[in-house]
Amino acid sequence: MSLQPGRAARLADTHCHVDLYPDPAALVKRVEACGIYTIAVTNTPSVFPRMREMVEGCRYVRAAIGLHPELAVERAGELHLMWRLLPETRYVGEVGLDYVTDEPRSRRRQREVFSQIVERCDTSGDKILTVHSRRAADDVLEILGEKFRGKVILHWYSGSARVLDRAISRGFYISVNTAMTTSEKSRQLLRRVPKQHILCETDGPFVRTASGVPVDPFATSDVVSNLAREWDMPMEAARDTIYQNFATLLGG
Ligand code: MN
Repeated sequence: MSLQPGRAARLADTHCHVDLYPDPAALVKRVEACGIYTIAVTNTPSVFPRMREMVEGCRYVRAAIGLHPELAVERAGELHLMWRLLPETRYVGEVGLDYVTDEPRSRRRQREVFSQIVERCDTSGDKILTVHSRRAADDVLEILGEKFRGKVILHWYSGSARVLDRAISRGFYISVNTAMTTSEKSRQLLRRVPKQHILCETDGPFVRTASGVPVDPFATSDVVSNLAREWDMPMEAARDTIYQNFATLLGG
């Protein structure tokens, strides 16, 4: 696949922590030049204004406002910023629940914060959420409810098959990264997901290549080839299917 500057790559990374690379502005420039759609998620609301400024004028890179569940307690003081800035963007993430902690107070606080975010997004109606659900997929789905008025992407889903099936029946998307396409457990889960529900993500710079280098949005091309192999179809066809899903996500 050629990634030529000035031409849309027909690739989309729906979950990348652009602000956490050593030179975020340089990354934005490279990604924009090659036309890779990238949702630049943030982990705290205070990072969002800087990110938005960095992507100003970009066609392909979009800034998302987020509050990572693992920071929901510590950064409770930034919630007022979340409420103020939320109406200013369509993209929301990283948000969700993380039950790696077994601290009941922390879990409860996470649920409170996520519920409020979901409620406000539901009211505005056109938001696109990229959602973390580690060990908490059941509660994430419960909070999102059956009639959420927005688009939901479950990022790096690792829950049960049962909850996955329920998410698919609600029209949620599943975003896939290279760590998932190389894990047997994830691959098994992904076989349950209809192609029309699949999107690419990288979760860079947290996900690394086999040689230890942090991936960036260009790695969506590897996700596509791995999925193409899994689906037993030509890479171009897999890329076009996933790209069409992304267009649908943005479109309506
Ligand atoms: Mn992430």
